[in-house]
Amino acid sequence: MAILRTPERFPGELVAELVANAPGKRFAGRVSQGTGRVAGVEQRWNPPYSLSPSSMGAFTTCPLAFRFSYVQRLPEPPSPAASRGTLVHRALERLHDRPAAERTVEAALADLAIAASELESHPEFAGLELTPEQWDNFVAEAETHVRRYFDLEDPTTVQAVGLELKLEADLGSVRVRGIIDRLDLTADGELVVTDYKTGSAPSERWEQKSLAGVHLYAVLCEQNFGVRPARVQLLYLSKPEAIVALPTDSTVRGVAMKSAALMQAIRKACDKNDFRPRTSNLCDYCSFQEFCPSFGGDPDIAHAVLADRASAAAGRPPLPLGLS
Ligand code: SF4
Repeated sequence: MAILRTPERFPGELVAELVANAPGKRFAGRVSQGTGRVAGVEQRWNPPYSLSPSSMGAFTTCPLAFRFSYVQRLPEPPSPAASRGTLVHRALERLHDRPAAERTVEAALADLAIAASELESHPEFAGLELTPEQWDNFVAEAETHVRRYFDLEDPTTVQAVGLELKLEADLGSVRVRGIIDRLDLTADGELVVTDYKTGSAPSERWEQKSLAGVHLYAVLCEQNFGVRPARVQLLYLSKPEAIVALPTDSTVRGVAMKSAALMQAIRKACDKNDFRPRTSNLCDYCSFQEFCPSFGGDPDIAHAVLADRASAAAGRPPLPLGLS
């Protein structure tokens, strides 16, 4: 049970401000006027409208980090690794937008240069605050990934029928969504889902887990186009290595069952305000470690602290009400 300390305010105005300052949060309980605080307030959260491979992976990895990212939608600082991935994806998207015969290494590097100049001023990239030398290194690393792509397949033989394809579907009571990097049509008239990865390739033990996202993409294709892809593939550009799997009745059932179970667990966590931290080696990369109880932090101040920092960075006065 949380107690929110507030100045004396008209309750309606106060509740409106609480809600405005805490997106995704629901309050239930009694608001007392003139006591200087709101008593008997239970914190609950609105579950996300839909699930994606990344949000499903986030909840499985750490429910508390999921709450910060997908329920509260707290801002995270840009990361060089994620931004490099965005740049490589954009370059390969441009490459496959060309006529097949033009998809050479030289064309891919020209596409990378265009993508880099397009994205350089984007807030995600500008937020990295790279020096000109660091920017050059950043683009050079992206170039390594683009060159390695050609070790995995010959793009002149690929017929892409969808690039950065956004799809949604209802699986029972769960809305699922995803962005497919590339959907190909083979000479045999079959669909193939391709997902580019710029992180390190998983060990053999984790291969099946890494395929969860592409199996969801296969289900999205089947639901939207009435055709199950014949193949799904992850192209790990850092190694380079391709991990390929064949969607089956069993993988399709597995996606539906996993989505339903995860959504049920998320709804329960939202209702009970019970998102527990789950420590792992990924904590080293967690943007919210300072608010994590496993590291001595308080999750309930995260929104107010980050909002105050954003206000200070933008030269605005701090929010009039902090949640404590
Ligand atoms: S620091 Fe680790 S345990 Fe804490 S929220 Fe982040 S990922 Fe979860």
